[in-house]
Amino acid sequence: MRYDLVVRSRRAVLPDGTRPAAVAVSGPAIAAIGDYGERLEASQDVDLGDLVLLPGLVDTHVHVNEPGRTEWEGFATATRAAAAGGVTTICDMPLNSLPPTVSVAALEEKRAAAAGKCWVDVAFWGGAVPGNAAELGPLHEAGVVGFKCFLIDSGVPEFPPLEVAELRSVLGALAALDALLIVHAEDAAEIKPASGRDYGSFLASRPPVSERRAIEKVISAAAATGARAHIVHLSAAECVAMIAGAKAAGIRLTAETCPHYLYFAAEQVPDGATEFKCCPPVRDAINREALWRGLEAGVIDCVVSDHSPCPPELKAPDTGDFGQAWGGIASLQLGLSAVWTVARRRGRALDDVARWMAAAPAALAGLPAKGRLAPGCDADLVAFDPDEAYTVDPAQLQHRHPVTPYAGRTLTGRVRQTWLRGMPLLEGASEAPVGRLQKRG
Ligand SMILES: [Zn+2]
Repeated sequence: MRYDLVVRSRRAVLPDGTRPAAVAVSGPAIAAIGDYGERLEASQDVDLGDLVLLPGLVDTHVHVNEPGRTEWEGFATATRAAAAGGVTTICDMPLNSLPPTVSVAALEEKRAAAAGKCWVDVAFWGGAVPGNAAELGPLHEAGVVGFKCFLIDSGVPEFPPLEVAELRSVLGALAALDALLIVHAEDAAEIKPASGRDYGSFLASRPPVSERRAIEKVISAAAATGARAHIVHLSAAECVAMIAGAKAAGIRLTAETCPHYLYFAAEQVPDGATEFKCCPPVRDAINREALWRGLEAGVIDCVVSDHSPCPPELKAPDTGDFGQAWGGIASLQLGLSAVWTVARRRGRALDDVARWMAAAPAALAGLPAKGRLAPGCDADLVAFDPDEAYTVDPAQLQHRHPVTPYAGRTLTGRVRQTWLRGMPLLEGASEAPVGRLQKRG
């Protein structure tokens, strides 16, 4: 048997642990996992030595914003940033693009906009909004990886939130399809208006109880319907116990958090530094520690970026007003380094990071060929130097806009090469985008 590609590493992060191995690739897929020094016939044989071999990351929370708000981001720029950051699959959020992905017709527009522009594989979330109940089944059939809803104003008028009764009826409909609902869980009744440059005021305006009240609604609706529900971008660590309790009771609930909640703390945010604005907000260092514990205990299932950029002028750069600035942090290219920087300090292994950022999100989105170095899976591979430190230079970011709170931070762990279905994406990459549009597997 002659393979197309063999990639060897003394530290290959496999589903059953990290060990020396050779990953043998035929066509787009992993054909076999051999021993590190095994004689394997191959057209190309790459020895990474002590560099780590990770599965390509799966980022299930990316706002690409194309079509309609392509000046905010776009498929070409977002997927180049993903490739540079070791992310080989992204799932695009249904809102901020125009039209929002709330019908099959809109999904087709989205796919047409993405076709031929993607450097990594791209799957799509559908949206659940008031009035589109009849579209949920057809969108599911069309291959969306699940549905997103808000329980609070989404920030854009074309993607309104669900009321509690609508949340129940959507979950009931999705239970019949065994489809997943992912929920932006903040409760408007617990949120006060905020304005001005003071980060503390902004933080106080969106207290942990706003997440708690919304998550309670999700848990009760998931319990009543038997549907699968997922909490996106959990920030308030006090909710970890409630999520653990729901899981223990057999409610089909999962949760994610994001690199910025695990890396930054409110104490570090300067007044007027609107590049840190996101909703829910980055909370204090005690909260961050508790979030890490929730992740390490397995209550929080995944870490995904919530990459949600906008043009710099929408970040209110002149006033530094947290009330005016668009909420969203761009980090698609930096998430792996940011999470690893803290995780290694905490004594965690890259196995944990691969589970949080590749295997678990792939399972969440129903993409069985993604997120693992195992025979039959797509040959999505990342060569990673876990010891190399670098300072984030916004000029090196491939995002459309380089605004990021990580600017000037020193992170540890750098992506050296990425392969998508056996094709190199960085050194030696093809001239043309090689990403494919994916459907739920
Ligand atoms: Zn988001």
